[in-house]
Amino acid sequence: MTPPSGSRRSDGFLVEARDAVLSFGQTPALRGADLSVAEGEIVAIMGPSGSGKSTLLHCLAGILTPDSGEILFAGRRVDTLRETERSALRRDSFGFVFQFGQLVPELTAEENVALPLLLGRARRASALAEARAWFPRLGLEGMERRRSGELSGGQSQRVAIARAMVARPQVLFADEPTGSLDSLTGENVMDLLVAAAREHGTTVVIVTHEPRVAAYADREVVVRDGKATSLSAERRAS
Ligand code: ADP
Ligand code: MG
Repeated sequence: MTPPSGSRRSDGFLVEARDAVLSFGQTPALRGADLSVAEGEIVAIMGPSGSGKSTLLHCLAGILTPDSGEILFAGRRVDTLRETERSALRRDSFGFVFQFGQLVPELTAEENVALPLLLGRARRASALAEARAWFPRLGLEGMERRRSGELSGGQSQRVAIARAMVARPQVLFADEPTGSLDSLTGENVMDLLVAAAREHGTTVVIVTHEPRVAAYADREVVVRDGKATSLSAERRAS
């Protein structure tokens, strides 16, 4: 989906947080976080536990609203949208992979993957056909009719990635998508995620604490005490 005409492309950045501040009660989570992600870029957000990584990702994805600061998508403010518009933006332009997959247990794997298409009012048969096309690509052939209780952690995470990608989002947000997986399965999941993103030109913002996962990204951003610092390629290489 291309942004509406007349929208400011914001120096070419697709996703941005500007001086985002957010507290949970007395607990500050973001203390003026800035992050700009270019279209097609794959950015890894790293940093210690509790530093604000998930909060920043949720703000960028329009799931949380910062107390102050700005969140932009394609140069348009996201944080000031009404909830109905924000849901529509999330549905039409974003995919989100949660840390533990969060599949709907009552649905089969293929129904889980088809969900975003059905919410976008696709017809059930075509949505399921499109969903099924992802299974061989993600090494999930034969898993189409299983429910989440009958899938391994790695399989569930791959189903969650397929669900986040099926509607061809412009941006894929992923919060430690390999955090619950052993390292070989995690690498496999990252290979598939990055390959799918590159194939579709998807912009990816991924939270991870694992350097080997961050190595898949074009750029690393470190979040500490609710502030984000971008590491240049030179610093990474040294
Ligand atoms: P990270 O993902 O880097 O581990 P988070 O963004 O989850 O960090 O959390 C940042 C800070 O905000 C932490 O101090 C955490 O305890 C707090 N926090 C996060 N979510 C909530 C919440 N829903 N309610 C209260 N405090 C929260
Ligand atoms: Mg987190």
